[in-house]
Amino acid sequence: MRLATRIKSLTARVEVRPGAKSRPTPEDIRRQRNELLRHVPLDLQATMGTLLDTDPLVVETLILWLGCPFARWARPANPDYRLPRSLVEWMIAPPRAYWMGHHCERCGLGVPIFSTWANDPNPPSTVIAFPNCPACRGRTSFAASHQPGSEAEKCD
Ligand SMILES: [Zn+2]
Repeated sequence: MRLATRIKSLTARVEVRPGAKSRPTPEDIRRQRNELLRHVPLDLQATMGTLLDTDPLVVETLILWLGCPFARWARPANPDYRLPRSLVEWMIAPPRAYWMGHHCERCGLGVPIFSTWANDPNPPSTVIAFPNCPACRGRTSFAASHQPGSEAEKCD
């Protein structure tokens, strides 16, 4: 089998794999953006909305978090839930590149960690941006992203 044919065959198989997630469509991202903004403190909604609308890197960084800002095991946010001001302000002006790599072990909120790489010329002293949850002060960790819970598939 020629390589191109093999790649096409494997790609088709992956795309139809049961349970496989596809990348959010622009409509999905718009809906998730609007949903997320409902949870941003009122006076920061316009700034956060502009950031999401004008900076593709921000959307790329937050693409999974937008649709599910809490760990899968956490309870869904109440409609009137407000994201912590300190988290939103941090995300509006982050000190360096980041990704949403940790969750709160108590409430499940996703929080950023700093991006770095092997030959980073200016590595951070730690990748942990929020050792404690800005919402409930619970400890944050990578492991919290995957701990079991009653709402295990809420974002699927
Ligand atoms: Zn928390």
